[in-house]
Amino acid sequence: MALEANECVEITARCLCRAYSFTTTVPQSDLPLKASACHCTSCRHSTGALYTCDAPWPGPTNEIRRSSLSRYVFTQRTHIRFCSTCSTPMFFEEYYAGPEEPSGYGVFTGTLGNNDLGGGKRLVSTVDHIFLSDTLDGGASVWMRETGSGDGTRAKRWFGPRDKSEEVPDDWPPISSLPAADVKSEAADIPVRCRCRGVDLVFHHGQMLADFEGKPRTEIPRFIDPVTHKTLGSFDACNSCRLSLGTDVIYWTFVLLRHLSFPEGTAGRQEDLPLFPQTSADLKAAVLAQENRDPRFGTLSLYASSSDVQRYFCSRCSATVFYACDEHVDDLDIAVGLLDAPDGARAESILKWSLGATPSWRQDVVGGWRDGLFTDIVKEAEAWRIERGYPKGWRRAELEEAKKKGETKD
Ligand SMILES: [Zn+2]
Ligand SMILES: [Zn+2]
Ligand SMILES: [Zn+2]
Repeated sequence: MALEANECVEITARCLCRAYSFTTTVPQSDLPLKASACHCTSCRHSTGALYTCDAPWPGPTNEIRRSSLSRYVFTQRTHIRFCSTCSTPMFFEEYYAGPEEPSGYGVFTGTLGNNDLGGGKRLVSTVDHIFLSDTLDGGASVWMRETGSGDGTRAKRWFGPRDKSEEVPDDWPPISSLPAADVKSEAADIPVRCRCRGVDLVFHHGQMLADFEGKPRTEIPRFIDPVTHKTLGSFDACNSCRLSLGTDVIYWTFVLLRHLSFPEGTAGRQEDLPLFPQTSADLKAAVLAQENRDPRFGTLSLYASSSDVQRYFCSRCSATVFYACDEHVDDLDIAVGLLDAPDGARAESILKWSLGATPSWRQDVVGGWRDGLFTDIVKEAEAWRIERGYPKGWRRAELEEAKKKGETKD
């Protein structure tokens, strides 16, 4: 049942490990909170998400200011306050009136609860997408042209800051400028870097291509397109991922550990030093090493969100880097926001996005306001796929084929 306009809604922002939690109440009439999504290179690399999304925190701020949340000086006027245990970025602390006192706090919308507001109402509406020129390809904004308020209202997209730059036209970037769907993946070495460069690695996509060229489907990992050899770009609705990156929608891609390395020249010549760990167990041991820790791991830290899951992040700027679980011995999820692909934020020269498919862990958002948000985003991604004349991704085609044959209920 829908709430009355004067009724209050309790909203809570919390981090993944629950060390930090902030609660306030807002009148129903003040919802949805108006948020702004920033797609700039710095936002992507300091979270691992394809954008940051924040809304002015509608409650008292003293408790936040005095909290022991860690601080990363993002810019002179903006600091990120994050949990150093689990890496959740919780607030942008703003110093717009000078360096002495914060002038306000923007809460990362992914840290907010999944309240059921009734009647399909949303807690957050993303009214602006800013700094799209940094993405080169429009980034995730192409799937988020609506505000997410559920009524079809269009978000404004800006090349730079809101109101102080040009608005992005609907047909930017032109579809003809984007990589075609059926073109083979490019043999590229893609940097994987956080904002502060404390984590600085390389994804050898070219090596991956060489490894699987001409191999039968059965020998190619589940996350690699058997035809183009692009790796899957997935949409993820998982509650823990949302909390750990601080955004509502999470985008992962996947990699075999043997296709990762340190950049050459970071600490002596590569050939004199051990390779990047080849299994998730070795990576865990190397990152947790108390003695003689390899300095090339830099600020890479981990939080075990359950006994068999390791979430890797930068301890300085809070960027999420990898998701690893013991079940997957030799592969990892990489946060797409950290990739420096030459073609743009969506990295379509090496990734194939799972457009229009059911996001992973879709069940996590059922029963709350994000349920509708994910329905909208999937619908927009599917419309955009059709507009571009892209075929369905192989994973989706395989699942739909299996469903037709009655092999799976999913
Ligand atoms: Zn935490
Ligand atoms: Zn930004
Ligand atoms: Zn960092």
